[in-house]
Amino acid sequence: MTNELTEVADAIRENDRFLLVTHENPDGDALGSILAMKLALDALGKDSVMFLGGEMAIPPDYEFMPLDGLLRELPADAAERVILALDSATAARTRLGDELLAAAPLVVDVDHHHDNTRFGSINLIVVEASSTGEIVRDLLAELGVELTPAIAEAIYIAVDTDTGRFQYTNTTQKSHELARELMAAGVEPQEIFRLIYESQPFARQKLKGKALERAQLYEGGRMIASYLLRSDFEELGVGEEYAEGVIDELRCVKGVELAMTVREPPVLAGPARRISMRSASDDFDVSAIARQRGGGGHRRAAGFSTDESIEEVIEFVRGEFANASARA
Ligand code: 5GP
Ligand code: MN
Repeated sequence: MTNELTEVADAIRENDRFLLVTHENPDGDALGSILAMKLALDALGKDSVMFLGGEMAIPPDYEFMPLDGLLRELPADAAERVILALDSATAARTRLGDELLAAAPLVVDVDHHHDNTRFGSINLIVVEASSTGEIVRDLLAELGVELTPAIAEAIYIAVDTDTGRFQYTNTTQKSHELARELMAAGVEPQEIFRLIYESQPFARQKLKGKALERAQLYEGGRMIASYLLRSDFEELGVGEEYAEGVIDELRCVKGVELAMTVREPPVLAGPARRISMRSASDDFDVSAIARQRGGGGHRRAAGFSTDESIEEVIEFVRGEFANASARA
């Protein structure tokens, strides 16, 4: 990793104009990483812009973050900028388009997904990192960028959300040491927890309620699945981004090894259904199931899109789960 880390740091030192990008349907790691990098490039006196592809709004959990500069349309000079992709396993998930990726002077891919397709000219892929935010921290150290309270907070949001508040197995001694360092730089964890987790819109809780109400157990209670309909979003007057976190209410049920949600995006363009999956054990890789349907992710958190019906897609995942269990 050291070589690539140096290469990325050199590329940042040697260039002046950057297009920072992350994956569509962003989570806390995506947004924390892009913001930390933007603030760092500002500190280095570089010209950079942040871009978020896709149609989905930022989840309400992250509305407090200072992301006013985040563009939803590409700037006119995009093709002249070095692309710095953060937390995106594939080029497609950046939604930049093949033409722009081919035209860019340089594409730098910084990520921690094990199935990253290495779409950059330089690829800094650290699978052991809890989050892309953790890699960004190492990059900033290499670049000699000081951890201001704002940068530290952005990185903390990335690490905290991707480790499920320091619960998941990707939580390492290094992530705790990083948390300590970020606190020393001014982060107040309780305040961040309050802003992310204890400022829930009522409609979000109602949406969770609908998913919990409809949840069903399969395979003797080892699998749980539920769904959210387009009409649910309409009834509550919220966008698809409100579904982030719903799956966590399912995966915490005792005995569950695989949790899944199927949601129907309220916007009609694009695929009819999006699937989120979570595995309770590293032995069962949900990203392998997702890849069969053109998606991806981590061993324990993955997703894909489909036009199959809710029943069909649950049956597909149930079948894969039963097969994998029989093999184990
Ligand atoms: P979530 O269920 O929170 O939407 O996504 C969980 C994980 O799966 C994330 O790491 C996310 O990047 C990945 N993921 C979700 N949907 C897709 C998809 O359609 N394609 C790929 N490659 N990864 C996905
Ligand atoms: Mn991540």
